[in-house]
Amino acid sequence: MAAEPLPFDLSGLDLPALAPGSVWLAGAGPGDPGLLTLQVLNGLGQADAVVYDALVGERILALADRQATLIYAGKRGGKPSPKQADISRRLIELARAGKRVLRLKGGDPLVFGRGGEEALSLVKAGIPFRILPGVTAGLGGLAYAGIPLTHREINSAVTFLTGHDAAGGVPAGVDWPAIAKGSPVIVLYMALKHLGPIADALIAAGRGAHEPVAVVSDATLPGQRVLETRLDDCARAAEAAAIEPPAIVVIGEVVKLRPGLDWLGALDGRTLVADPLHRARDAG
Ligand code: SAH
Repeated sequence: MAAEPLPFDLSGLDLPALAPGSVWLAGAGPGDPGLLTLQVLNGLGQADAVVYDALVGERILALADRQATLIYAGKRGGKPSPKQADISRRLIELARAGKRVLRLKGGDPLVFGRGGEEALSLVKAGIPFRILPGVTAGLGGLAYAGIPLTHREINSAVTFLTGHDAAGGVPAGVDWPAIAKGSPVIVLYMALKHLGPIADALIAAGRGAHEPVAVVSDATLPGQRVLETRLDDCARAAEAAAIEPPAIVVIGEVVKLRPGLDWLGALDGRTLVADPLHRARDAG
């Protein structure tokens, strides 16, 4: 069911103009176009060139001005992967040619998105830029799965961790014992490939083998899937369920709140329970 046309107009908000020769480095959010910020929508309406990543969906690109050139700079999907330096060079060339450039990345540009590197290359080239944050997948994706990042009875800290390093392996520089001990809730990006070794490292560092885990793929999109599993079985279960990237993995007791907070499921007829933690406790 589509909503009525928006009853307001953005012109009263004094949103900035995207000046020719400058770049806005923006986050498109995890997928649902409704999670775009007004700043990014404003950029899409003004840009002459939109340089976008693989995780930016067509419904969001469709919001760009019809005159805009859409330039794919993604790193996945079987297409050749442009090198980071090539992407930065492209942004600089477009800006120097006087274009109004929107660089659009999935989620937030500064969360595992190399946005900082691109911005620094703009600084070096003397190109003016803005950074427009987006809803990062670890935040928006979990909200759409009905899993809070923090919950007063459970955790007062959360760690966002990448599941692979620049070379594509299990991240080498991670202090697993420190994370296992210090972070009751761990949110993993890009972790499907190395989920087994990561779970093993956390269990070896003291995390409970039966600790709840959720894997959320295509979060906030129509094909969103949520797999509820546990730490010692999550890699096998994800493979058995044929979960595909992009996926966010969350490890921790907050996953137990999902039977109470799965609002998307409720829209589909799932009955929510008001006391999911007590129920989980009663069940042992
Ligand atoms: N800058 C992005 C992250 C880029 S790294 C952000 O802030 O969200 C790419 C990883 O992000 C994916 O491997 C996956 O772990 C996660 N991700 C991005 N979009 C997602 C989605 N719609 N559903 C699940 N995970 C997603």
